[in-house]
Amino acid sequence: MRRGYEKMERYFGDYGGQFVPEILMPALNELEEAYDRVVKDESFWKEYRSLLENYAGRPTPLYLAKQLSEKYEARIYLKREDLLHTGAHKINNAIGQVLLAKCMGKKRVIAETGAGQHGVATATAAALFGLECAIYMGSEDMERQRPNVERMALLGAKVVPVGTGSKTLKDAINEAMRDWITNLQTTYYVIGSVVGPYPYPVIVRNFQKVIGEETKAQVLEVEGNLPDYVLACVGGGSNAAGMFYPFIDENVKLIGVEAGGKGPNTDEHAASLLKGKIGYLHGSKTMVLQDQWGQIKVTHSISAGLDYPGVGPEHTFWKETGRVQYEAVTDEEALEAFLELSRLEGIVPALESAHALAFVKRLRDREGKTIVVNLSGRGDKDLESVLNNPYVRERIL
Ligand SMILES: *Cc1c(COP(=O)(O)O)cnc(C)c1O
Repeated sequence: MRRGYEKMERYFGDYGGQFVPEILMPALNELEEAYDRVVKDESFWKEYRSLLENYAGRPTPLYLAKQLSEKYEARIYLKREDLLHTGAHKINNAIGQVLLAKCMGKKRVIAETGAGQHGVATATAAALFGLECAIYMGSEDMERQRPNVERMALLGAKVVPVGTGSKTLKDAINEAMRDWITNLQTTYYVIGSVVGPYPYPVIVRNFQKVIGEETKAQVLEVEGNLPDYVLACVGGGSNAAGMFYPFIDENVKLIGVEAGGKGPNTDEHAASLLKGKIGYLHGSKTMVLQDQWGQIKVTHSISAGLDYPGVGPEHTFWKETGRVQYEAVTDEEALEAFLELSRLEGIVPALESAHALAFVKRLRDREGKTIVVNLSGRGDKDLESVLNNPYVRERIL
């Protein structure tokens, strides 16, 4: 663990840092050096941008949702990350990091995955660059997300079941870190969100900030002004960080929406920023859902991508400084928004993104305002679980 004069750059205020076993420090230092080199290399960014454009499908549209706007008496724009290759914003980061791995001379990439979205994005990028790929996934999640497991195998990745702990995402991260420590020479660890020890939160945010940069230019072009509100859902926090970062110094209200699960008065949620306490998770000092002894709690959300007991340290900093407002919506509110967007606009959103959409309804002072909602992904992966949900069955079947 390092402190002192380096504290400024390795931290967001008091959060972030590198709270890892000493054995991992050479890997983090190597990564930091490589990234610092790459940041200055125009040819790296040229290749990254070209792949985002020609392979992943950027820029994504900023769509004025007419019916939704009419209903909520505001101008509501959707940033269509759902239209990207593999169906979510995760590919922005996977392409960036796997390209970085390639530049570092690594032969193998590993990643953790919860719902399988980051695993699929990483397996896709690994196939693209011809690198060996192993994806760690909780055995519980493998059961719940069969199609994504098969997709990763199809892409040539090895999916490694993790049967420890709660057999979900946090356990998969632990196992991926263990693999990394053992295979430092050959292996690059692709983290899927703005979490983990420095420099990961910075690297991932910088590969995702293209979302906010595009949005800013697009909204200025059609509106002539910046939006009043920008909303994004927060799991680990990467789509929100990528969307918010370019607006941080602007006069725009930023709202991050967490998974409220079964409600604020239950223990079944994943609202780390609203209900957590400062702690340490996966190498970072940040808000964590933990018990009185600091043990990590089991979380719940209807959307697997938001079901994580921590959050990126930059969000904890933005919350503490009051720059970003954080809220939570329940499983039911998200389902309602999921159905509403499908019906009103012909767009089936990811359940994660439906959390951000759901907050529009609760937004006071929205009349006549310009609101951008980041549609982080598409809902195809969620159809089975949504259609089996009693709340939904009552309403549409
Ligand atoms: C993974 C995922 C999320 C949550 O991750 P963040 O790092 O918080 O963005 C949100 N939306 C979709 C579609 C996802 O796949």
